[in-house]
Amino acid sequence: MRRYRVKELFGPTIQGEGAHAGRACVFLRMVACNLACTWCDTDFTPANSRQLGATEIAGELAALDRRRARMVVVTGGEPALQWDSEIATTLAAAGFRVHMETNGTRELEAPVDWLTVSPKPRFHGATESLADIRPSECKVVVDESIGDSELADLERRYRHCEHWFLQPCDGDAKSLPRTLELIERNPRWRLSMQLHKLVGLP
Ligand code: SF4
Repeated sequence: MRRYRVKELFGPTIQGEGAHAGRACVFLRMVACNLACTWCDTDFTPANSRQLGATEIAGELAALDRRRARMVVVTGGEPALQWDSEIATTLAAAGFRVHMETNGTRELEAPVDWLTVSPKPRFHGATESLADIRPSECKVVVDESIGDSELADLERRYRHCEHWFLQPCDGDAKSLPRTLELIERNPRWRLSMQLHKLVGLP
């Protein structure tokens, strides 16, 4: 039985971002990421993490999900580094609808129900590139590297997406006006505002 490196499991809370913002869910945060974005606000280090089997993860998520919303957001770090058919089938058997957020640099070994790609190509360096994936939605964190041409490139790459979101970079006061200007010029894209932070949830 494989053991997964898990940073934290928490909930109940709400999905704060994207097309499913406001929905009740629980979270599974995996250890490790293959990128090192300078403005990353997430702790995905091995400190205080645990190694858990798929059945243990499903059991703990089910215990957290006491009102049976049965939606789990799988994030990291980069969850695609560990995602495989064993955990996918175990969570599905436990009744969970799986939503994953990926940086888009890895193909998934097993399917999920909803895939959010949040690409950060400026942090790829020489070793990473965007993989050939087919996400449900594209969510771009707006820093100074994001402009009209970057959005046009993403629209071409992820042309099958159902939803397009621009999210201000947390802690950067210039990011919100930049985001709103981009939305004015590129009306396919909508504002995403990390709803969970606005209402004080984890
Ligand atoms: S890809 Fe996401 S989790 Fe990884 S360093 Fe960048 S912002 Fe953080």
